[in-house]
Amino acid sequence: MADESYDYLIVGAGFAGSVLAERLAADANKRVLLIDRRSHIGGNAYDYYNDDGILIHQYGPHIFHTNAKRIIDYLSKFTEWRPYEHRVLAHVDGQLVPIPINLSTLNQLYQLEMTPEEAEQFLVARAEPVAEIKTSEDVVINQVGRELYEKFFRGYTTKQWGLDPSQLDKSVTSRVPTRTNDDDRYFIDEYQQMPLHGYTAMFNKMLDHPNIDIMLNVDYREIRDSIKHGHLIFTGPVDEYFDYCFGKLPYRSLEFRHLTIDQPQFQPVAVVNYPDQQVEHTRITEYKYLTGQTHPKTAITYEIPQAEGDPYYPVPRPENTELYRRYQALAENTPNVTFVGRLATYKYYNMDQVVGQALATYQRLMEAKNSPTLIAEMH
Ligand code: FAD
Ligand code: UDP
Repeated sequence: MADESYDYLIVGAGFAGSVLAERLAADANKRVLLIDRRSHIGGNAYDYYNDDGILIHQYGPHIFHTNAKRIIDYLSKFTEWRPYEHRVLAHVDGQLVPIPINLSTLNQLYQLEMTPEEAEQFLVARAEPVAEIKTSEDVVINQVGRELYEKFFRGYTTKQWGLDPSQLDKSVTSRVPTRTNDDDRYFIDEYQQMPLHGYTAMFNKMLDHPNIDIMLNVDYREIRDSIKHGHLIFTGPVDEYFDYCFGKLPYRSLEFRHLTIDQPQFQPVAVVNYPDQQVEHTRITEYKYLTGQTHPKTAITYEIPQAEGDPYYPVPRPENTELYRRYQALAENTPNVTFVGRLATYKYYNMDQVVGQALATYQRLMEAKNSPTLIAEMH
């Protein structure tokens, strides 16, 4: 294989790399080599049947949701879907209550029977308006006040990020809304559905093309000088690509503790969050809710945040954005290389956003082909 020459070398077989491989091979008829240092395709969305035959997500729960029909239309070429609306409970004050905070959360916690209007007043009375919302603490305090912030957000966020919410950009806790109605869905996106046979099956179909070769268990550094290729698409960590020349970009890691339990059901919903700082895990996921699989046993995963390990989450805070900008400037001045995806653009993106970014990148690559100005911009 090393003797062959490829139009594109793509590093990373997650959503970013796989979507680009598929488009370049199937739409533009390019020869593509897709590599990953892991032993599998799918990146962090990889799922597999464990030893007990239960479909689990190796890197924690991946729930698909989007408002973009064009992304559903694109992925539907490679999978059928099962409808799934995600619901999460939080373990707070010895009870399991809905998160995002909603009418039932408030009524259950405070043993009240408020209407939505009363709940709104309840929150207005507790909220502490913040003039300029900058941090993840500001967002929550401004909406629900300190008591609910302490119960639901401070412990979870401190565990998840190793930082106090006041040290994190507002975008982090802004992902979780507050409601005064009884909508207990985690997401309100128009499309909420899971690949019917799982993510890995979808990736297998996406990459099943004669123009695509795949090499697994191989790091870019090991092959970069031996594989003849034209353009490079890099979806790994951008700081790693540049040998950390400006210093390391912080990423948060996780340990995933997978267990099979000899009973059909473990918890009442797919995910239960544990904001309490006395326990080390942030959440427990039970996969059968996500996959619809029936099985006499059930599989669960504890997520335990870590400072070191695989880079899972870019850490949104001003100094990190600043450092990323320096790498971004370098990336933009690196000819013949395109950086795409959550790690290469240091963005806390969901799967649909990465698919969107990859499809847009493909468009730009194609447009740049015949335009010298655009080629310069792409680089
Ligand atoms: P990745 O999936 O990280 O793929 C990058 C690949 O590049 C990796 O496989 C890596 O091994 C490979 N690589 C890196 N460097 C090299 C190198 N030097 N040589 C060879 N290979 C290399 N999104 C949602 O929409 N819904 C969710 O519910 C959701 N839950 C999540 C839960 C967790 C715990 C995490 C961590 C993420 C979650 N996400 C979720 C986000 C989702 O995982 C990402 O948006 C998506 O997987 C990003 O795809 P990517 O291709 O950019 O990166
Ligand atoms: N969060 C929290 N308590 C919760 C749920 C979320 O404090 O019960 C905060 C936490 O900082 C988390 C962020 O909100 O990292 C975003 O939550 P989300 O569920 O979107 O996290 P992800 O699924 O991306 O890990």
